[in-house]
Amino acid sequence: TGGHDELDYLIKQSIRASKTVEREIQRLNRIENYRKEFIGDISHELKTPIFAIQGFIETLLNGAIEDDNVNRKFLKKAMRNVNRLTFLTKDLMEISKLETGELKSEIQDIYLRDVILDVVESLQYKANKEEIKLQVEEIPKNLLVTADHNQIKQVLINLVENAIKYNKPDGSVTVGVKPYSQDESRVLVYVEDTGIGINQQYIDRVTERFFRVDKSRSRGKGGTGLGLAIVKHIMEAHDEEFFIESTPNVGSTFSFTLTKVDNSGPAATSPKE
Ligand code: ADP
Repeated sequence: TGGHDELDYLIKQSIRASKTVEREIQRLNRIENYRKEFIGDISHELKTPIFAIQGFIETLLNGAIEDDNVNRKFLKKAMRNVNRLTFLTKDLMEISKLETGELKSEIQDIYLRDVILDVVESLQYKANKEEIKLQVEEIPKNLLVTADHNQIKQVLINLVENAIKYNKPDGSVTVGVKPYSQDESRVLVYVEDTGIGINQQYIDRVTERFFRVDKSRSRGKGGTGLGLAIVKHIMEAHDEEFFIESTPNVGSTFSFTLTKVDNSGPAATSPKE
């Protein structure tokens, strides 16, 4: 009968509605758990430098300030921890903006060679300090890609800084661009190092926020544990690929794809000489 059909229809409707509600609850629970975890991680990360600063100041106040040999040393240590907090805050703000989608990529046509040379030049002093050879392979001057200039710069900075930090004495870092075999419309940008490498079991985990293979090495080098999480987010926002290949004790290659712009016709701007 018609009445039966109607009842049947209503029951099906309400089952569908309750499934939608259930899915929505699951989604909100996931976000809530994620937030709790994030706050827990942050508190944990903040504790170490804050306790250290507290300790140094207390020692100074308890008399160490009178000793000229000690007071400068303690102030310097406190300062180093203040700097850590500064880096951490900067990276946290960046990642939270990326994760909430507040930071939109501003996609433009950019000359890839200019961005790479700019980053490498700005990190040359760090490489020199660690006695690491930092070099760039030949890149075509007019290679134009479509991406957010600042974000790609950030990705390159994070990858090259890591390649320097996790290197070995007399090691080297090479940055270059090559065709991407899977797709002719894209290129592959790579940062290759001769460093300590990453064990296979950790490769998938290094892009998790605050995951580090060796906590004390990362902290000692001023790491926040957020660099690769930021890189992964930026590449996802660009709809591009990100790859990690590594052999422990031999080195690692971090690479990502970018989409080329056809600029065989006249260009509005020209690459730098
Ligand atoms: P961090 O601030 O600790 O460097 P990242 O998110 O940039 O944080 O990297 C996470 C971890 O991945 C590092 O602590 C390190 O253990 C590992 N890692 C990153 N880059 C390299 C590299 N080039 N060689 C070896 N290990 C690396």
